[in-house]
Amino acid sequence: MRHPIQDYLRSLHDSLRDSNEGELAQYIPTLATADPDRLGIALATVTGHLYSAGDDETEFTIQSVSKPFGYAAALMDRGRAEVDARVALNPSGEAFNELSLEAESHRPDNAMINAGAIAVHQLLVGPDARPQERIDRLVSLLSALAGRPLRVDQESYEAELATADRNLSLGHMMRSHGIIQDRAEDVVAGYIAQCSVLVTARDLALMGACLAAGGLHPLTGERVIAARVARQVLSVMSSSGMYDDAGQWLVDVGIPAKSGVAGGVLGALPGQVGIGVFSPRLDAHGSSLRGVRVCRRMSEDLNLHIMEAD
Ligand code: GLU
Repeated sequence: MRHPIQDYLRSLHDSLRDSNEGELAQYIPTLATADPDRLGIALATVTGHLYSAGDDETEFTIQSVSKPFGYAAALMDRGRAEVDARVALNPSGEAFNELSLEAESHRPDNAMINAGAIAVHQLLVGPDARPQERIDRLVSLLSALAGRPLRVDQESYEAELATADRNLSLGHMMRSHGIIQDRAEDVVAGYIAQCSVLVTARDLALMGACLAAGGLHPLTGERVIAARVARQVLSVMSSSGMYDDAGQWLVDVGIPAKSGVAGGVLGALPGQVGIGVFSPRLDAHGSSLRGVRVCRRMSEDLNLHIMEAD
């Protein structure tokens, strides 16, 4: 017998399949040539049930959806005090790649904007880690979460590296203030490799479900992320995960989430489910337009708003 959630996801997919609003990201060359019509939807429960519809196995680059997991890894590797000393915990209210740091501490505002994610990348593993060790750390955490071996897409990595002036500016600015110590070129290249890992909507749903389960993997029960770390990551996602639309998102959708410019959206509702959506056309805030619609509809139809009393 087919499960009602499976039928629901299929009808949600069918109702949004023909919408072609929004624009592909242009500033990274490989994203501008993506197939814009793809739509994959997946939902995983914290108890290990995974449902999906549409282009649920199509691979795309994780981009900013890697940021919560870079943050989780750094918090586990270095502890909260060291991470908080370099990356603050507040919404920035600015664009994700804005060239700005907190006034006195010179820390990035949070780990969900580019400056914060670059600073976090440098914290991975330990102070003397080689650049490749940091990349390997992230790829292996993401693979553990997805339950399959993931890899960096070399073409996307090289294309983004060749056009990385803005992220390099952030790296140099942070190095001048002592927020990062390694060469800005190495840290930014590592951050871009982290963004170039290929994932599917199903992978994102499982990753979200693991955060939602307080760091226990929904399929294996294995502890992948420390419980306190999952709590901190979800908190920052809920205040800062959806670019400069985070406040509106929290009111309307009410699911801690992170989106990326390749069209991925990951949602994680504590104690309940993880959501993964892939649709490459973006809205004015830089989030997947249909990805946002899917989450809005799920929040309404399945009663998923975090502030709902019942
Ligand atoms: N790699 C992209 C960048 O650093 C990620 C941006 C995003 O997904 O928001 O610009």
